[in-house]
Amino acid sequence: MESKFAQHVNQEEIVEIVCDLVRVDTTNPPGNEYLCTERVSACMQSLGMEISTYEKAPGRTNVVGRIGTGTKSIGFVSHMDVVPPGELDQWKTPPFEPTLIDGKIFGRGTLDDKGSFACAYFACKAFLAEHADFDGTIYLIAAADEEMGSELGIIYLVEECGLKFDVAIIPDGGRMDLSIYGEKGILWVELESRGIQAHGSTPELGRNAIVPLAEWLTEIKTLDLGANFDRTFDGWTMNIGTIQGGSSTNTVPSVARATIDFRLPAGISKAQVLEALEAKAANVKTHSPDAELHVKVLHETAPHLSDKNSIIIRSFDTAAKCLNLPMKYETFGGNTVAKNLFFAGITSVVHYPGDDKLAHVPNEFVNIDELVLGSVLYAETLEAYFFG
Ligand SMILES: [Zn+2]
Repeated sequence: MESKFAQHVNQEEIVEIVCDLVRVDTTNPPGNEYLCTERVSACMQSLGMEISTYEKAPGRTNVVGRIGTGTKSIGFVSHMDVVPPGELDQWKTPPFEPTLIDGKIFGRGTLDDKGSFACAYFACKAFLAEHADFDGTIYLIAAADEEMGSELGIIYLVEECGLKFDVAIIPDGGRMDLSIYGEKGILWVELESRGIQAHGSTPELGRNAIVPLAEWLTEIKTLDLGANFDRTFDGWTMNIGTIQGGSSTNTVPSVARATIDFRLPAGISKAQVLEALEAKAANVKTHSPDAELHVKVLHETAPHLSDKNSIIIRSFDTAAKCLNLPMKYETFGGNTVAKNLFFAGITSVVHYPGDDKLAHVPNEFVNIDELVLGSVLYAETLEAYFFG
């Protein structure tokens, strides 16, 4: 590899860090990120970083390493919690016993996001080995609670603990050749249908809540939100994720609910979605006039687009070019902590030292070569950022 930083990235040590972190079960919920504190602190300490820990809830530890005193600053944001392994019989190796096969490490969190932490650590190490006297500040963050919304993690750190840096690298989305610079907004809604409970043998005495909900959902299949949106996004999506209703077969159900996950590009508003859902409810009422249908918003985030000309994206791109690494920039429908940081005034690069299709699936793995390459890429990014 044509980079002076490569000599500082020790493949054996990177594997060791990933394995040590994967071996502790930090499935969220409940999280137990404190189990990683000692290991990540040891990494940070070896770099000469000043270490702070923050807990909004017991055991939900965020570890922040800091080095440098200059005003220009950057943060690496990775997380120590992992999603549940899911069905164990789908795994070829035990999810919490990291296993090396053919240059890959298998196990839950090998990529998402413990491998990413190891990458960020080695990026700092390689950069500091070449530029011990740099004028700036680097934060290396092992956050809690990313998989369940970051309320105890980066949101807490930024909003309540006063953690602040100018820009960020988030090794938690995208691919080795793909960086994410914009994310759609999320709109979760609940559709509710109300009826009147009665005995199943005398349905005429009640009013069934399930049937109008089913009709409403059928109507929604043809929901049209128009084509008037920002074309840097690929469109809007909708997923009917849950449906619940009734208490027993021999009872007329008095309530039924469904929830829908919308992912919305800039240009399509919440009001537009709610209006379209109400219009579909009105259609249902033309043949079920007694139907009582309501929409409730459960959760929402706004779409965001980072400036592709921002210093961090330019620095990252310079680094990729320097390594002859092809890099695409896209938007997507997922939400990462980049969105929280964006609305806190911090522009990020989102990039995985691997493939995001491997996150959350059984047999999650990371390529050791990609961990090394990711470390070098991020070290080059630091150099371009501080010295470019
Ligand atoms: Zn992640």
